[in-house]
Amino acid sequence: MTTLPPFGIDPIFVGRVWGFRDLRPWYDRVADDDPIGEVWLTGDDCRVATGPHAGKRLAALFAEEHEALLGPRARSSASPLLLKTLFAREKLSVQVHPDDAMAQKYGEPRGKTECWYALAAEPGAKVALGVKPGVTLVQIEEEIRAGTLETSLNAVAVAAGDTLYVDAGTIHAIWPGSILLETQQNCDLTYRMFDYGRPRELHIAKSLEATKLVTRAGKIAPQQLADRTVLIDAEYFDMERIAPAESRTSASLRGGEAPGLAYLFAASGAGRLTGPEFAPVDLPPRGVVAVPAAAPDFVLEDAGSAEGRLDLIRIAPHGPE
Ligand SMILES: [Zn+2]
Repeated sequence: MTTLPPFGIDPIFVGRVWGFRDLRPWYDRVADDDPIGEVWLTGDDCRVATGPHAGKRLAALFAEEHEALLGPRARSSASPLLLKTLFAREKLSVQVHPDDAMAQKYGEPRGKTECWYALAAEPGAKVALGVKPGVTLVQIEEEIRAGTLETSLNAVAVAAGDTLYVDAGTIHAIWPGSILLETQQNCDLTYRMFDYGRPRELHIAKSLEATKLVTRAGKIAPQQLADRTVLIDAEYFDMERIAPAESRTSASLRGGEAPGLAYLFAASGAGRLTGPEFAPVDLPPRGVVAVPAAAPDFVLEDAGSAEGRLDLIRIAPHGPE
């Protein structure tokens, strides 16, 4: 198999009614019109920023190079994970995503289990995860109609550095006060239950069909290892925070005997990947570099930044997809 060097990805800034107009200092970006709520870091329409495939849509690269990206065990040629940063100035809708079985019933390849890592949080920041014990589907439906659904939701406090797991079927809502890195199965199905009177479409029947009253959603306890912290090790992805260092070798960032794809995300600071087989690749603040399964050896250096040291998060799809 030929090698495929690590490559940068250009983010896509997506307008959302609940977002921010000014994303500084997270990104050097001020919206002209609609506020920006989501920055898609690995969307199908994101463009490869560096290397031999620069300019290509990520989905097209996965279709062409799935084995080099995902490894020989990959079962699908699709991009498995969607990474975003989320900027909520207002409450997002109360929503739910289908699991794989329900998504496939409606003709989509996979459902959406996701997790949120809090890059920052104000005192008192909260999100809603699941419903309170004893709440029934009939009650949820009545409360959607009455506009009182929030009273049945389970509020969870969020502090910087927290990881929250949101398995498919969990009713959830993101509220203002935190800046989140979202990792999710690459699926476009969101069923909106309640939208605080905004005129966007609701999907009440499907949201009730997708809802599981009891799920595993909640805060995940980090697991401290010698040179990293395992933030989450879940069904579809794992995420680690790598301890700061002047430089790290690819071996320490690839993991496992049969490494697959990994994404490197700079939560703060900046990095640079260098290796004998490719031109240097920059990892900008809040940017992503993809490390394919077939990447040649490289070194990741802390590139130095006004923000201080590189705070590196490594996200990998779990198992062959
Ligand atoms: Zn969601």
